[in-house]
Amino acid sequence: MSLRLSTFKAPPKGEHYDLLIVGAGPAGLSAALYAARLLLKAIVVSMDVGGQLNLTNEVDDYPGLLRISASELVARFRDHAEKLFGVPVYTNITVQNMIREGDEYHITGTRGLDVYSKAVIIAVGTARRKLEVPGEKEFTGKGVSYCSICDAPLYKGKDAAAVVGGGDSAMEGAIILSGYVKKVYLIHRRSEFRAKPFYVEEARSKPNIEFILNSVVKEIKGDKVVRSVVVESKDGAVREISVDGIFVEIGSEPPKKWFQSLGLETDDLGYIKTDEWMRTNLPGVFAAGDAISMWRGFRQIINAAASGAIAAYSAYTYLTERGLIRRPVVKAEGAVNGGKQG
Ligand SMILES: Cc1cc2nc3c(=O)[nH]c(=O)nc-3n(C[C@H](O)[C@H](O)[C@H](O)COP(=O)(O)OP(=O)(O)OC[C@H]3O[C@@H](n4cnc5c(N)ncnc54)[C@H](O)[C@@H]3O)c2cc1C
Repeated sequence: MSLRLSTFKAPPKGEHYDLLIVGAGPAGLSAALYAARLLLKAIVVSMDVGGQLNLTNEVDDYPGLLRISASELVARFRDHAEKLFGVPVYTNITVQNMIREGDEYHITGTRGLDVYSKAVIIAVGTARRKLEVPGEKEFTGKGVSYCSICDAPLYKGKDAAAVVGGGDSAMEGAIILSGYVKKVYLIHRRSEFRAKPFYVEEARSKPNIEFILNSVVKEIKGDKVVRSVVVESKDGAVREISVDGIFVEIGSEPPKKWFQSLGLETDDLGYIKTDEWMRTNLPGVFAAGDAISMWRGFRQIINAAASGAIAAYSAYTYLTERGLIRRPVVKAEGAVNGGKQG
């Protein structure tokens, strides 16, 4: 297979594929490498490469990799699918629509994406949840951030920042920010945390992190950039705190409306319903990773990668059973795929 690198260009207009994978996170890139091993004509189309792994620093729970930087893990996933197995990865493209035409899906999106595929894997993960308060939209990118790990260094030497949330990301974000900013406020609507206890302990040990509990953000204020955050406590007391930045770390959610507009069946929270073979309710459409309903409460890289591999195999089975592709010719006993065992 050819050696190529991720490209910002759209794939050739009107091109036909066996399998189009939407999303280049752990699920999509794992699906891509398995698709290549099964000799499918496959591509990956994605907004970025790495997905949520771009929001964290280090991974120490992926078997066989004894603590690895998240960016290195992303590079390895990408290189495995793209460089070793030659699956083209097209990035900076948002897939917007998918309409069934005969045995194929006609897939369109930004940057002129306009291609056909007999099977599709939806591996789009989840998107960051918003506070939905006045000022949030206006100051996004001007002091409102959804990734403490990515943006904390930009606040080096600043007086104060707020982190909103009570999970691992919020706690990790506050800890990282405490190394850059003089004062960090951790605003959380409850008094208990979803975050792992060791994160909470570490955050509590930092003298420049102040916990503001049982409180919610009501408004973000500023001029050209964020200047303050208005917080209301459960007992109704309102205070305005001067901050240079506010980091919204309140989790993520699937694009429920988009899934439903494509005709995909979702659960009550908007995650795609699949069976154990990652089949959705639509023929030839499979789903994998954080976007699916199956991993409620346990959305991890290992599950994303595993479900991506299963989805690719399911797509292959779907295509061969319907005669939409020919099975690879077995050249010698036990030698499929040019001698490599799939
Ligand atoms: C801060 C943080 C720390 C974490 N730490 C760990 C950890 O230590 N260990 C662990 O196992 N898990 C960890 N996770 C969870 C892990 O990152 C996810 O489970 C995993 O990334 C899910 O992979 P995915 O491929 O399903 O989705 P994602 O990683 O979300 O990737 C989705 C991909 O789809 C693309 N996409 C979305 N919509 C579209 C569209 N319409 N068109 C085209 N492309 C689209 C995105 O650009 C992205 O590339 C962490 C998550 C976060 C947020």
